[in-house]
Amino acid sequence: MTVESLPTFTRPARQRWESIPADIRQRLLANVWCGQCRHGVTITNFSGTVKGGDLLLVGKCAECHGDVARVIERA
Ligand SMILES: [Zn+2]
Repeated sequence: MTVESLPTFTRPARQRWESIPADIRQRLLANVWCGQCRHGVTITNFSGTVKGGDLLLVGKCAECHGDVARVIERA
């Protein structure tokens, strides 16, 4: 799944996301804490918004399909 195919990013979130190198983006997506699984999981079906200057990704755990979120602070 590539972020380019996702329509669910707001414009500022997309700009922020695309400023992150692809390998780092991949690492961020593959290591999101899931409170149900209690370990790092891959986030799927995610959307992106910018909140308080931070990029916020909200989506589903690839393993249990629970809600997960990841905040990516401004570098
Ligand atoms: Zn999970």
